[in-house]
Amino acid sequence: MSLFHKAAFFKSAAAFQDVPASDGEIAFAGRSNAGKSSAINALAGSRIAFVSKTPGRTRLVNFYALGAERFLVDLPGYGYAKIPAATDAPWKNFLGEYLRTRASLRGLAVVMDVRHPLTELDQMMLLWFCPTGKPVHVLLTKADKLSRAAAQKILRQVEGAIAAFAPNFSVQLFSSRKKSGLEEAQGVFRGWLEHTQTATTLPGAEMKTPGHDQGSGNKNPRAIRGNQPGANALRFKAPRSGRRSGRRPKSPTV
Ligand code: GDP
Repeated sequence: MSLFHKAAFFKSAAAFQDVPASDGEIAFAGRSNAGKSSAINALAGSRIAFVSKTPGRTRLVNFYALGAERFLVDLPGYGYAKIPAATDAPWKNFLGEYLRTRASLRGLAVVMDVRHPLTELDQMMLLWFCPTGKPVHVLLTKADKLSRAAAQKILRQVEGAIAAFAPNFSVQLFSSRKKSGLEEAQGVFRGWLEHTQTATTLPGAEMKTPGHDQGSGNKNPRAIRGNQPGANALRFKAPRSGRRSGRRPKSPTV
């Protein structure tokens, strides 16, 4: 039986002091409506995560126990604008602190709709996470919406693009609807959980406030230029929201 088939809801956290003691966990991030909850449910083999009809409604970090103090962690979807600014800042601080300082976090799964990969906010999330030195695995989900050839073409493009972020960033096709890509994803995540230390310290890597010199941990100037959020160096469409065009956002909007 897969490790994830034991997953059961454990608790929701609204602040950093609420997070449980943990021996290892994998966090799932992604733009609202990308298919994150569906991917978690597909991996778990049951409907443990809420599949939303209203993008961005979930504002809690949900912990699903995998046994032996290990967790799968569902982060709120980003890119949803209708959050009052006053309630937004403490929340971002919590998420930022969680992603930057959580020692038991073994790696980050980033769920992207295969038809809209590497949006500006996705790129920011990847850049922001880079200095932790921990691995990222991108699930290009809803692959069933494209022909096999079209999905493979996007996979190759995204592979090329994320290779510039960090050597321990990887990507695969996934479909929650067709249950394809499950074994590959489970293999990656199991590997993370079974190894106590997965972070590779990048030379000069240090955490920066999002939006401020985000690429400075990467000494490869070409990679830095190519990864500037909004630079569209990746040949993918910018996120749907036109309100961000022409300026560089400060952090992923959650
Ligand atoms: P989240 O906001 O990222 O958690 O996204 P959800 O998991 O709630 O999914 C958003 C919508 O996309 C829902 O209507 C899902 O049924 C649909 N969806 C999610 N994954 C897939 C998939 O692999 N294939 C297809 N065709 N639809 C999907």
